[in-house]
Order: sequence, then structure tokens, then C-alpha cells
Amino acid sequence: MTRKTFDAAAIAAHEAGLSAALDAGRRVLAGGGTALDAVTAAVCALEDDPHFNAGRGAVFTYHGTNELDAAIMAGDTRAAGAVAGVMHTRNPVKLARTVMEAGPHVFLSGAGAEEFARDHGVEHVDPDWFATPERWRQLEELKSRKLGWFDSGMKYGTVGAVARDAAGHVAAATSTGGLTGKRWGRIGDSPLIGAGTYADDRAGAVSCTGSGEQFIRAGAAHEICARMRLTGESADQAAAAVLAEIGAIGGVGGVIVVTPAGETALAFTTPGMFRARADSTGLEEVAIFA
Ligand code: ASP
Repeated sequence: MTRKTFDAAAIAAHEAGLSAALDAGRRVLAGGGTALDAVTAAVCALEDDPHFNAGRGAVFTYHGTNELDAAIMAGDTRAAGAVAGVMHTRNPVKLARTVMEAGPHVFLSGAGAEEFARDHGVEHVDPDWFATPERWRQLEELKSRKLGWFDSGMKYGTVGAVARDAAGHVAAATSTGGLTGKRWGRIGDSPLIGAGTYADDRAGAVSCTGSGEQFIRAGAAHEICARMRLTGESADQAAAAVLAEIGAIGGVGGVIVVTPAGETALAFTTPGMFRARADSTGLEEVAIFA
């Protein structure tokens, strides 16, 4: 993502989407709600916004399907839920949360996850709900350039949120369509607890975006939390160190971090990252490029 690939209308649309998600999360926290509810609300807003690669507006697999991955984690209990490869759930983050709260498992995939969604009344939609002409155009462009299975160089748009509530608890959630042109059945870092998503009140909450394969290999989100917990590094230091490790194995991307003390980091090694943050002192920031 560079200034050249984004015109003024696209910038305005993405900034509006970020502000709406920030508001959704902030409303929950201002009303005394939990970090878990705040990240759920923020990620749902982004899943419903076709400009972001999650829920409606998710990227296509090479075969032309939308296969969605999501995860959520609570820092106080380290309870977690995740789903991969769902094709009919309107808000995969809600399904991840239902997995976390309504059964003994952490991670469900494919048809089993869809059945769990139906059994628990999580909103089901026709796959057409997710498809947008712009994502189809991106798939066609990838195929015409013969870039192979992956668009790891073109753009990421995974959505994520981290929050810290009035009680000092943190939570993280991540949702994605993955990478344009991914092989069907491929699962990225986003729904993997410890790779793309992690939360631990002893350290912080982390959500990642970027080249998922390298984030998985680095155990990125957990590694950031472990560094903060065991070495005393700040959120910025731990995020930079782990992004450097990911760079060393050929990956790029970004992370958002919040700690129980309210320290935040928005770090990335790409030319930009859709991002926004707010706190109770009135700080409000929405940005795209470096
Ligand atoms: N990390 C995601 C994945 O590999 C892609 C992204 O962040 O856009 O599935």
C-alpha cells in the first residue's frame, strides 16, 4: 500500500471506516464495557465495511471463493476462540467469540465451524455477501501478472483491534480474508492464537497483519507479549524487535499493541498501515501511511 495506489476517495473511505470502528470500540469502553466487547465491536464494524479485507470485502482465493479466518482472546483469563475457512458467517469474529464462550474448544475450521455457527445462532449469509467487484478485479490482476498463488507483495487489509478497559484488562481480535490468490484451505496467522492474535494481562494484547506465513513462523503475537513480560521491553521495543525478526525471514507487516498500563504501539514495516487509536484523555488518531 503506497500513496500511489490510493486515490483521495479511497483514502477518505478507509479513514471513515477506521473512525467508525474506533467509535464503536470507544463507545463500549466509555460505557464501562469490557475490552473484549470493545474489540468485538470494532472488528465487527470493519468486517461489515467492504473496504477492508475481512467479512464483506474479503479477498478471494485463487479459486474465487472467500474463506474467512478470525480469532479473539481475553487477557484476564487467556480464554481464546478462533475459526478458519468459514464461508457463510457474516461476522467471523462473533463466531470466534462464540467458540470461546460456548464450548470447550479454541479453534474450529471449515464445515465444523459453520455447523457450530448454525447451532449457536450466529448470523449466516450467502457467500455473495462477501464478494465485491474490487476484490475480484484484484484477483484477476494477480492472475494476469502470473504472480503465482500469492499476492504477498500487493496489499494486506486484515482487520484487528486491541483494547484496554477501565478494569485494566486487555483483549485482542483479528479477522481476515487472508491473501488474494491464496490456495483454498490455506490458513494464515490471523486466527492462530500466538501468531496473529494474543492477549495476556501480564504483558499486553496484540493483533497482527502482514505476510502470514512469516508471522506464523515467528510466533509473532505471543513473542511480543513474551518479550514484554520477560525482558521488560516496552510495547514499541518488543514490536520493533519482532518485526525485525519477521523481516529477517522474508516477511513484512504490522502490529498493534496495548498494555494493561495503557501503553500502545502501532508499528509496521510496510509503506503504510490502516490504523487508529483513542484513549480516555482525548487522544484520537487515524492514519494510513508512514
Ligand atoms: N496476515 C494475513 C494472512 O496472512 C493477511 C493480512 O494481514 O492482510 O492471512
